[in-house]
Amino acid sequence: MSRPLPDFDTLLDDIAAEARKSIGRGKVADYIPALARISPDKFGMAICGVDGSEYVTGDADERFSIQSISKVFTLILALQTIGSNALWRRVGREPSGTAFNSLVQLESEQGLPRNPFINAGAIVVTDAITAHSVSPVLQLLSLVRRFSGKEQIYIDDVVARSEAEHGHRNAAIAHLLKSQGNLKARVEDVLVTYYRQCAIAMTCRDLARAFVPLANGGKQWESGEKLMTPLRVKRINSLLLTCGLYDGVGNFAFRVGIPAKSGVGGGIVAIIPGKFSICVWSPELDELGNSLAGTRALELFARKTKLSIF
Ligand code: GLN
Repeated sequence: MSRPLPDFDTLLDDIAAEARKSIGRGKVADYIPALARISPDKFGMAICGVDGSEYVTGDADERFSIQSISKVFTLILALQTIGSNALWRRVGREPSGTAFNSLVQLESEQGLPRNPFINAGAIVVTDAITAHSVSPVLQLLSLVRRFSGKEQIYIDDVVARSEAEHGHRNAAIAHLLKSQGNLKARVEDVLVTYYRQCAIAMTCRDLARAFVPLANGGKQWESGEKLMTPLRVKRINSLLLTCGLYDGVGNFAFRVGIPAKSGVGGGIVAIIPGKFSICVWSPELDELGNSLAGTRALELFARKTKLSIF
């Protein structure tokens, strides 16, 4: 039986007040026009413990676009769908050191993306689920609902459409991958799935709950249902630590010391193995595409609680 969490209520409020001071120094993602409309002033944070205990502050119950955080869910679904051996033949497991939407490495490394969390790798992962299902998006939604324990999780169609209209780099990546023989489904079908997965809308509370299996040996936060093996959990957390924040991952590991995944919607989910998962949301990003105040909040959290994986 796990021990209950310490009382984080006041701590989260203090962290929110301090982290909010970074708001105004970053920039809300505007390359997806529908995201540019979000108020930069939003800030939410939620913790969900392996024993189901929860702590929240600020806008923790407001939905936002999970964007690249979805890449963790598609990776889990692809591993379930085609298996570990087949997937890791098509995607690497090394940090890229390049922007999340870069095309450069893909050309020089013959279509083998560095890892599943840069766009090129994520598009191959999305292909794995698209090529093996008539309704990959529904399958993905059903996985997210099962992990979070919430039925009412949907896709924001406005965001999905907006990204599709402006997704020239992702389309270029997908076509390059196809020409290199690393996409099986039709490019158009893979991109539709990809834009829809990125446009899933969830709250900090939903995401913290959905990521508890990565802190809890694969068990769901509420029912204790086994959703993943401990080996898969270990591997995914390792990938988050080395590849979860694009080319900002080294600095994040230095400052925070916790495996995490970010998205350009301003969300970051972090895992303290054996204890809890944390989700923070603040829409303004740094120049690498990671939430500025969100990173600061997690740094403060790790420092004040002395909790990190090291
Ligand atoms: N949908 C975004 C894109 O493909 C996801 C990127 C991100 O969150 N870093 O550009």
